[in-house]
Amino acid sequence: MTLVDDFARPRPVPDNLVPDLTGANAFTGDRVATAVVDRHAPWARGRAEALGARVWDPRVLKAARDAQRHTPELRTLDRLGREVCDVDFHPAYHELMALGFGSGVHSLAWTVDRPGGHAARAVLSYLWNQVDGSTACPLGMAYASIPVLRSQPELAPWARALAVEGYDPADVPITEKSAGTIGYFMTEKHGGSDLRANVTVARPVGRRGPGETYLVNGHKWFASVPMADCYLTVAQTEGGVSCLFLPRRRADGGLNGITVKRLKDKLGNRANASSEIEYHDAEAVLVGEEGQGVRTILSSAEYTRLDFAVGSAGLMRAALSQALHHNDHRTAFGAPLAALPIQAPVLADLVLEWAGAAHLGFRVARAEDAHDDVAERLVSRLLTPVAKFWNCRRVAGVTEEVIQSIGGNAYIEEHDCPRYYREAPLNAIWEGTSNMMVMDVGRVLAREPKAVEPVIDEIRPVADEHPLLADALAEIEELVTAPEDTARYLVAKIALATQAALLVREAPTVVAEAFIASRLGSGWGPGYGTLRGLDFPAIIDYGRLA
Ligand SMILES: Cc1cc2nc3c(=O)[nH]c(=O)nc-3n(C[C@H](O)[C@H](O)[C@H](O)COP(=O)(O)OP(=O)(O)OC[C@H]3O[C@@H](n4cnc5c(N)ncnc54)[C@H](O)[C@@H]3O)c2cc1C
Repeated sequence: MTLVDDFARPRPVPDNLVPDLTGANAFTGDRVATAVVDRHAPWARGRAEALGARVWDPRVLKAARDAQRHTPELRTLDRLGREVCDVDFHPAYHELMALGFGSGVHSLAWTVDRPGGHAARAVLSYLWNQVDGSTACPLGMAYASIPVLRSQPELAPWARALAVEGYDPADVPITEKSAGTIGYFMTEKHGGSDLRANVTVARPVGRRGPGETYLVNGHKWFASVPMADCYLTVAQTEGGVSCLFLPRRRADGGLNGITVKRLKDKLGNRANASSEIEYHDAEAVLVGEEGQGVRTILSSAEYTRLDFAVGSAGLMRAALSQALHHNDHRTAFGAPLAALPIQAPVLADLVLEWAGAAHLGFRVARAEDAHDDVAERLVSRLLTPVAKFWNCRRVAGVTEEVIQSIGGNAYIEEHDCPRYYREAPLNAIWEGTSNMMVMDVGRVLAREPKAVEPVIDEIRPVADEHPLLADALAEIEELVTAPEDTARYLVAKIALATQAALLVREAPTVVAEAFIASRLGSGWGPGYGTLRGLDFPAIIDYGRLA
């Protein structure tokens, strides 16, 4: 053993307390993320490695904790009593924004002219969601907005500002800034699921139509990132619910008729300012035709939903990394926790959950990269709501089980686990709740019944070799003919069968077979750790940061 090896050797920790997980590379150590980049976007390896090196960097982790602890504050009056509309953030929030936007987490898919742009960006977002969920919100919204802004010629300069790999927090007109950010303001008091019931109105100043100027009046009950440079919103016009674009500041530098009434005091995601706002003659540009607002917003929801599916897999990954780190270091009853016979099945089960979620999220990202292929377009259309539904719901249980697997130390605020736990339920709410995802799957199957075929075609060859998967497939084929009666059950079955087929193709056999035996067989659940008779050390090893 050299001196260097000896230095690197893990040493016993006094009192059996576990040091922070630091220094690992979240990309190079992750078997799923590295396989995605190696197979589908090898050109992105350097970027992913660079961001992966920051995920467990103690300075970045401290920024993520500080930003959650010192929450944004609304300032409505300046020292002289004049009305202003400012949100003060802790410097840690700006550090995180600079790192995320500076790494291209929001824009890589739109700026690179090489195959695999969405897959590569998904890997960056998966890494970023291991750092911080609050800044993942503006990053995801920027990702989703760029194609919408590009579709309306008047907004091309904004699309360019949003695609920049950089962050400029100055609250000045965009023409004076090096980079931009965006918010999506859609939800009103009566509810966020039914946008057609919105009461905010937009009236044309002169001519009606795409690219023309309108004045917006009304409110939004949830409006995250109010300090963004611009916003996409929906409002009623003569032609129906329409999509509009608003800059935060008018060209003369004045505020654009948008008042922040209050910041929400939230369960988690606390570094991200989420507000209630009012529009008073706010100047806006109509995006697309009047009456097409829901369609326009849904076209970008495809990307936010993908981002949340991948982001929730990233949050699972962060929690899992913490669980494995702790369980490898701490001993009880004379052995590392990870080796204890009732604990090993719990950890293995968490590895299976993460592996399934990560493979599913990245599969949807790959479909996004192949939109010229009809079958891949259908895969993306069907599996986006499936993955958003499944990954974003499963993550909450994972963060709870991870806290259980670590014990009391994970319940203390200096640990990252409380942050993960509070963050976990959110992705399942915004950009469409679980029921909205289930209804969307039903809508696809009703309008485009063929959408399920490429998904089934991908599962079938694997099902021929795995009887439990064959049973699941037969059930799916029967249920898609009447999806409304069994909606959630069907969506869950599609998620599990797709994950199983992906794992058989892309993960070690021991992982794939354990996934199938547990998720599609009997004797699994409720909760984690009820697996029996499997090679737990091998499964756990797949989840360790290599
Ligand atoms: C932290 C945070 C930040 C947010 N930021 C933003 C933001 O920046 N911009 C923005 O526009 N919104 C934002 N939202 C709002 C979010 O998008 C909405 O909360 C979400 O769309 C759901 O709307 P709702 O809460 O009004 O619930 P509702 O629409 O009232 O739904 C309540 C429940 O009823 C179910 N439901 C509704 N309709 C049906 C139906 N037809 N069939 C079956 N079930 C149904 C839903 O699934 C849900 O379970 C944010 C929310 C949170 C928590």
